[in-house]
Parts: sequence; C-alpha cells; structure tokens
Amino acid sequence: MDLSRHEFELDDLVERIKKNDTKLVALQVPEGLKMQALEMMDQIETETSARVVLSADPCYGACDLVHDKMQNIGVELVAHMGHSQMNIDSGMPTQFIPVTYDGSPEIAPVIPYLNAHRQIAFERINNPSNPVEDELEAIDKFQDMVGRIAPLTDTKLGLVGSIQHLHLLPTYKKYFEEAGFDVTIPVGGARLSFPGQVLGCNYSGDDPTVGHYIFLGSGDFHPIGLVLHTGKPLAMLDPYTGEATEMGRERIERILRQRSGLIMSSMDKNRFGILIGAKPGQMRRNLALRMKNKLEKHGKKGYLLAMEHVGPELIDFYPVDVFVNTACPRIAIDDAVKYAKPMITPYELEVVLGEKKWEDGYKFDEIP
Ligand code: SF4
Repeated sequence: MDLSRHEFELDDLVERIKKNDTKLVALQVPEGLKMQALEMMDQIETETSARVVLSADPCYGACDLVHDKMQNIGVELVAHMGHSQMNIDSGMPTQFIPVTYDGSPEIAPVIPYLNAHRQIAFERINNPSNPVEDELEAIDKFQDMVGRIAPLTDTKLGLVGSIQHLHLLPTYKKYFEEAGFDVTIPVGGARLSFPGQVLGCNYSGDDPTVGHYIFLGSGDFHPIGLVLHTGKPLAMLDPYTGEATEMGRERIERILRQRSGLIMSSMDKNRFGILIGAKPGQMRRNLALRMKNKLEKHGKKGYLLAMEHVGPELIDFYPVDVFVNTACPRIAIDDAVKYAKPMITPYELEVVLGEKKWEDGYKFDEIP
C-alpha cells in the first residue's frame, strides 16, 4: 500500500481546535495508517497550540471510539481518522477525519466478471425457485451450500466500496454505465454515513433490485461479509493494485462448512460463555441477555463476559464449552480457528437450540 497517496483532511480538525482553544487532543488511527500517526501529530501540533496524544491501542472501526480512558487523562477532543461516524455516542466530542486514496483503476479487467455475474442474476430472475440438481449447476448459479437464492426483482449492479475509495463511486458509476450496466449505489441504514459504504458488520444497502455487486477496495474482509449476507455474486476491483477478481463461491462454501461444523459441535454442549463487546459501537447487551434467556429456556447455562478486546488468550481458559459472540460479528466469522472452543454467532446459537433452521439460509450477524 502506497501510504503517500493517502490524503488526510486535517483542515476541519485544525479549525475546530483553534476555535475552541483545545489543549489536549487524542488521535485515533486505524491499524493500517499507524505508521503515519507521528507525522499527523506533528502537523496538528505545528498548526495549533494543542498537544496531541496518540491512542495507541488497536483500532478497527468507528465502533471502537476511545471514550472514558481519554477523558481520564484530560483529553477534550478525539480526532478519529479513516472511519465515518456511526449511530453511536461515545460520550466524547469526536471529529471524524476522512482519509482518501487517489488511485483510480481501469475497469477493463473486472468487466468479464461483471458480465458473468449479471448472467447469473438474469437466470435467478427467470428461474427463481428451481432447486439445483448438482454441484456444477450450483456453481453456475452461485448457489451456496444452504441453497440460498436471493429473491430478485432486477439485475442491477450494486456499486460499493470501502471508506477511502467512496469518492470514486460517482465517477465509476458513469464508467460502468458506459460499459452497459444498470448501476445503483446502495444507500444503507443509520450505521453507515455514505451511499455505497459497506462495513464488515453492515450491508444494509442491499435490496432485491441488486442482482450482483462490484466492490472498490482491497482485501476480502468486506467482500466475504457482503456475499455471506446477500448470497449474491461479487466482483472486486482493487484501487491499490488495479487488479480485478471475484469472491468465489468456493470460499463462501468453505466458510459455511466451517460454520455448520461449529454449530454441530455445539449442539450437545451445556455451558456457554456469551461475549459482550464493551466498545461503544459493538455493545449489544440486550442481544446477549436474550441469548442467555434462550439458553436457560433450553436447560443450558450462559455466562455473560464483557470485554473490550476479544482474543483467545483472554477467554479460552474459562470453563465453558462454547462462546457466543455478540461483540464485533467478524470475531466469530474470521477468527474462529484461533479459539480452542467453538465460537458462534447469536443466529448460530438459535440453530444450535433448534429455534432456527440452517436449511432456511444462512443469516449473517449484522449490527444495524
Ligand atoms: S466489522 Fe467489527 S470492527 Fe468493523 S465496524 Fe463492524 S463491529 Fe466494528
């Protein structure tokens, strides 16, 4: 990743610090940009009379706003970089600082994927309920092991991206339209700030008019979540490298097989640790309590464990058989293999308890 091509828009922050005569500012920076944190601190301290303290703990999203810890050391303002505001209140005045990347890749490499995916969407509309007969047909139709076919009313191309590339979307909408696609930029719910934005835990812009997706961004974190959530084909165009690829059905199948295995191995278990995320945008206390009640209804034990950071070394030793995660949903999906015991989502617990059926289609754990 070429960090020098990222633009940090510090002007609004500098103006706010000057206007309020802020003395102590905390800077919170995502992991991928920490290398540049000191440079940003220098810039803020040069342009204002404030002192800057870096919140050096890991930060993976706007769900993770620093709050009481910074208040305790006298910070008046948090400058949170690279993520957009969510529908949460951390209790601290917070300035969100956009980070944009200036790469703008050619669309030619991704067009073959988009043509193939649009064809899948057409077939889904034309044969909405035909169950597939064999594996090859399942691959053709991008049908996963749960047999999910998203109900469609149109075959539009949904154009989405990660936060540092969202400024590209209006231009790329035109490019893809010129290439013959009917393009929409989905608008999601209150957890998302911008059209076309996706988070690892929220794909609420999805609707039945979208037949397939194009993701502008790098890595497969968002693509995996989007396909698990929607069951729709997705192509990826990476602004850092210009490379195009797709989120293959095999990858999603592998994850679903793993999820199914974890559910099966939790079925005869009796003691469950229910994780509550203490970060402001991950805290789902009511969901955790509901899961505890469900366990008790089925004659099982549920222990509520609240924590800010979740990791194997922090929980594996508890004498429970299974963990149910209500903190960041991706802890269960992406990190399951790191834990010595099954780590399942609330929906998966409902399948374990027989309250939901796996065959009805996998339900991604979304934070609204
Ligand atoms: S995916 Fe996890 S880390 Fe990312 S915004 Fe959602 S809760 Fe936060």
